[in-house]
Amino acid sequence: MTKVITTINEDILSKNICFIPTMGAIHEGHLSLIDIGKETNLKTLVSIFLNRKQFNNDDDFKNYPNELEQDIQFLERKGVDYIFLPQESYIYPSEGVPSIVPSKVGSILEGASRPGHFEGVLTVVNRLFDLVKPSHAVFGKKDAQQLFLIKDMVNRFDLNIEIIEGEIFRDKNGLALSSRNKHLSPDAKLNAANIFKSLQNVANEINLGKSFEESVEQGINLISQNEINLDYLEIVDEENFNYPNKYSKKLKLLTAAYVENVRLIDNLDIKL
Ligand code: AMP
Repeated sequence: MTKVITTINEDILSKNICFIPTMGAIHEGHLSLIDIGKETNLKTLVSIFLNRKQFNNDDDFKNYPNELEQDIQFLERKGVDYIFLPQESYIYPSEGVPSIVPSKVGSILEGASRPGHFEGVLTVVNRLFDLVKPSHAVFGKKDAQQLFLIKDMVNRFDLNIEIIEGEIFRDKNGLALSSRNKHLSPDAKLNAANIFKSLQNVANEINLGKSFEESVEQGINLISQNEINLDYLEIVDEENFNYPNKYSKKLKLLTAAYVENVRLIDNLDIKL
């Protein structure tokens, strides 16, 4: 039986928890992380908390999809042990919650386009970790830079939490599922699948031996055809998020683009 809770009590703290934080508008990407969580055989706890601090744009925060009733149904059907629905005042009491400043990777890519975003993310994740005290937590590779910074925070603060990574869940056309996709018309969803196709094209070119610069340039041109407004498409070394060099073994292509004014992010691993 799923329990819906708004605070963390002794019962929860007495258990080993696998924690899956979300901002709600639950979709199959979230559910795939829960499947991974269930494989740990620990109690699964899913939080739904729309974290104002990570939005640098008030309209974006206000327009974020809110489907709480349906979310609870999805999560109950999935057999989650606990659904944690905290109030903002529980997460952020007037004092005692430290702001967590990300390491320098927090200021590039998403961090450059959305100032303060990753400080907001790390602050809430650290606060949630402190409340829930999980032994394991699952995060999606969809938010690759976020995942990098969370793992970095866990190392920096020596938090005793195992971070488990979930692959990106895509629709049949390749579009990465996102709560924000709910704002897209059917046509825009089809068009948005070109984001992934462009990433695949860059990966193919690199694997065929073309230079990083040329391949990325070609990807930028491809993505910008169609009605897609590109914010960035960049290639990094997965180890450190620096520009790759000849010693790099695993690369990551990361992109953010607007379709019908909806901000979408995606990424793709490239193994050399
Ligand atoms: P969000 O509710 O968007 O904050 O996401 C909550 C968690 O779900 C994060 O760890 C995300 O990386 C993950 N997530 C979101 N979309 C997907 C997806 N399409 N595939 C896998 N994980 C995802």
